[in-house]
Amino acid sequence: MATPNQAEIMLKFTKHQKNMPNKRGAVERLQDFDEVYQNFSPPRAAEQASRCSQCGVPFCHIHCPLGNNIPDWLRLTAEGRLQDAHEMASMTNNMPEICGRICPQDRLCEGNCVIENDFSSVTIGSVEKYITEVAWENGWIKTITPPHERTESIGIIGSGPTGLTAAEELRKYGFQVHIYDRHDRSGGLLIYGIPSFKLEKHVVTRRTNYLEKSGVIFHQNFEVGVDATLSELRSKHDAILIATGVYKAREIKVPGAGLGNIFPALEYLTAECRTDLGDNVPAFESGALDASGKNVIVIGGGDTAMDCVRTAVRQGAKSVKCLYRRDRDNMPGSMREVENAEEEGVEFVWLTAPEAFIDEGDKQGSVKAVRITRMRLGAPDATGRQSPEPVPGSDETLPCDMAITALGFSPENLPTMFCTPELGVTRWGTVKVNHSSLMTNLDGIFAAGDIVRGASLVVWAIRDGRDASNTIANWLDEKANAVAAE
Ligand code: FAD
Ligand code: SF4
Ligand code: SF4
Repeated sequence: MATPNQAEIMLKFTKHQKNMPNKRGAVERLQDFDEVYQNFSPPRAAEQASRCSQCGVPFCHIHCPLGNNIPDWLRLTAEGRLQDAHEMASMTNNMPEICGRICPQDRLCEGNCVIENDFSSVTIGSVEKYITEVAWENGWIKTITPPHERTESIGIIGSGPTGLTAAEELRKYGFQVHIYDRHDRSGGLLIYGIPSFKLEKHVVTRRTNYLEKSGVIFHQNFEVGVDATLSELRSKHDAILIATGVYKAREIKVPGAGLGNIFPALEYLTAECRTDLGDNVPAFESGALDASGKNVIVIGGGDTAMDCVRTAVRQGAKSVKCLYRRDRDNMPGSMREVENAEEEGVEFVWLTAPEAFIDEGDKQGSVKAVRITRMRLGAPDATGRQSPEPVPGSDETLPCDMAITALGFSPENLPTMFCTPELGVTRWGTVKVNHSSLMTNLDGIFAAGDIVRGASLVVWAIRDGRDASNTIANWLDEKANAVAAE
């Protein structure tokens, strides 16, 4: 039988329309915290992958932070060669099923797909998730057996995507890898930040279980700075990677900001994540961190704000409003998430800023309303972005029983926290590294992920973890070669 040529299998964007995997209806998904999108069926995955036009210069690949070989694994998927597709996808990505779920594809691979303008982009993320889910189901993802065990050990501080990725790659080289994390579960923001309706928790624990079975040693409830100083940990390992992420919530500075029932986004989201995982969360059970029956106002326009509004509607809030000082076109959050939130009943109040939180004489000192002012977009600032400015006389008051602030994150003071004042940091508090070696100013101590880059994305954390594993391995190899040459 003749083998079909590429044109017979691929370039089907004129024949097949873009189709996302089935999406649960808003009414159904408000009943639980399960993921919104289901997985592709095998024929749908092949059909959607076949829409790719196999560009000679694939812009999707250029705009993927991992440089994924997207056209190749799309072709293999369209041909039904799923094991090969999985092998190719996992060569460049340590968590393809996670990126396929939560990358803001509209700003990365899919937003740069050349057929986007006239025919709608290829559903790259959903295919990536599909092939990796098939790989898990079929047992194609095998635990790591390094070619030979090395004696050197590496201590990684932080089990978020940066730390987990670096651990996997270093284990493949045969190093002894220990991960220290202050939380009781590993995964970082994948487990205690990102809500289950975007990324179900079992998807994360499947990855961490796989690493554990591959020989990575996890030390949970171990806070560097409390249970050991950085230098104590350094003396136990041949190299250290700092991958602690950024956690200090940016504060809102308006009158009444200290009233009760005003919460930083991560405190609110972590309580729901823990509840989903079956933990008892006293502040949730007492009702403080439960939006049920409340008028909720979320302040911010990024993806964290989207996660908060969508959590609040699921908890059964009476009303959920999102205040953002710019307009829809200028918000940083993913448009797909805004559309999902709108379908679920969230109201966006664009071009609005809070002026004050008001308690209306409430004896407990809890927020009861938010005074807002309308904004307009004025002259562009130094970055070319139009600056919002208040519209005089436009104040009004919105009822509010619970306010959540989602204004971004900055690093904690790591030199103090780690009892290592000599650790070099930038003026923003991120850890300073040599950008080619990723080593800090301290010998053998490397850093990567959000703690170097500032609050970013999972796909960049994976990229940074991969880069750090390479520079650490090279540095240890050079040391071993120098010893051998003596
Ligand atoms: P983290 O994931 O923050 O992990 C750091 C780990 O270090 C944590 O486990 C922490 O407990 C541990 N740690 C910190 N200090 C210590 C210490 N002293 N001792 C021991 N352990 C310590 N990105 C996307 O791509 N898509 C999304 O949809 C998305 N949604 C997000 C939603 C929310 C609410 C938030 C907050 C972020 C979201 N992000 C998203 C961003 C993404 O989660 C981060 O960019 C990514 O997790 C950073 O990875 P990391 O490994 O550098 O840090
Ligand atoms: Fe797209 Fe993210 Fe996958 Fe890269 S890792 S192909 S950006 S979904
Ligand atoms: Fe295929 Fe779009 Fe990538 Fe071109 S840009 S290779 S059409 S996915």
